[in-house]
Amino acid sequence: MEEVLRGVHKNDDDDNFLAKPVIKDNWALLKEIGVVNHIETLKSDIHNFKSLLARGLDIFNRTNIDEIMNATVYQISDQFLPSFIAFLWKPIQTREDITIKAYKNYKPAEIDLHVDCITPFEAFFMEYPKPINFELLAFQLNNEEAVRPYLKINTEIAVPILGPFGLYGIILIGNKILEGGYTRDELFFLQQLMCFVSQAIKNLLHYEHSLRDVKTGLYNHGFFLTRLSEEIYRTRRGAYQSSIIVIDVDKFKDFNDVYGHLAGDKVLETLAQVIKHGVREDDIPSRFGGEEFTILLPNTDSETVWNISERLRINVEGMMVPWSDPLPKVTISVGIYTFDQNTPTDVSSIIRRADEALYMSKKRGRNRCTIWSSDLNDSID
Ligand code: GH3
Ligand code: MG
Ligand code: MG
Repeated sequence: MEEVLRGVHKNDDDDNFLAKPVIKDNWALLKEIGVVNHIETLKSDIHNFKSLLARGLDIFNRTNIDEIMNATVYQISDQFLPSFIAFLWKPIQTREDITIKAYKNYKPAEIDLHVDCITPFEAFFMEYPKPINFELLAFQLNNEEAVRPYLKINTEIAVPILGPFGLYGIILIGNKILEGGYTRDELFFLQQLMCFVSQAIKNLLHYEHSLRDVKTGLYNHGFFLTRLSEEIYRTRRGAYQSSIIVIDVDKFKDFNDVYGHLAGDKVLETLAQVIKHGVREDDIPSRFGGEEFTILLPNTDSETVWNISERLRINVEGMMVPWSDPLPKVTISVGIYTFDQNTPTDVSSIIRRADEALYMSKKRGRNRCTIWSSDLNDSID
């Protein structure tokens, strides 16, 4: 260890070392036999590695994928101008769907790339887990259909994002806009930087997955409870209202009994999409367990949450579940509770009240929404 530390220290003292009389006296010789040149090369390499490390750490310290992408594009921007940089990734590992985000001129932009999945590249990248020239990749893959969309947009480099679940995504870099192809140094820089980027994205995807329910892709029970506690704390200090919605599928046991569990699963997946698209970005739609869902709606009063719930209920009634045989209409019952600094402020009371409202929706005939009120208990037998 001491040796290593001394080594690092010596590097910092390069100039002092070169200023020693014995070096000065022999300068001509050192130059002639190439030592001076060698030192210059080493210094430049050290500088490049330090700069790469700083750039990598900058990317690693980002806490969401958008920030990683922005930082990557920014880090590349003072080196050269690729025609585009695109990030493709699977937000949910168990599903094929991919998200694509592209940058042109260092700004988010649309890109003419239409692909549904990255699976054709998985086996190759598992075997060769490194950035690769795209033409070489296309040649090795020998799957014309899979590579065509990428060649069309002049992809020059492909960088895999790999993890224990396989191929999570691919980063694509287009050809250089000015000058010819990438130089060896530029390729080396890109490849090294992209290793940091793909690791950082992989870490964030793992974190994201740990908050998600595998079947539906909504948030899971644990994350919902964490966010609810935080929101209770916030409403306690601020003068605003927040709400929760609990949703239970009506007569779902009967549905499973008649149409089977796989059809039931498809219903839950489709329902989750309806829920996800029916709420705002800041809301927390979650699968509480089984056929029960919860949504936390920060900063939402009772009139707004009522309108959102009714819209969800009606959308579910009309939703089409893709299945081999026609499936009957599925309905949901909904319980709503709105809380602020004047209402009970612990997680279990809040969920209990929303549950009581849900129970009332069931009791009144299902396929309806109920807002909790203090006289609700009187009407529950
Ligand atoms: P209610 O209207 O009173 O809610 O009736 P219900 O039949 O929906 O209620 P119950 O609690 O008796 O049954 C819930 C059913 O939901 C039982 C179970 O088979 C089904 N279910 C729970 N989780 C899943 C799942 O992940 N997939 C499928 N296919 N079914 C599930
Ligand atoms: Mg239930
Ligand atoms: Mg049910």
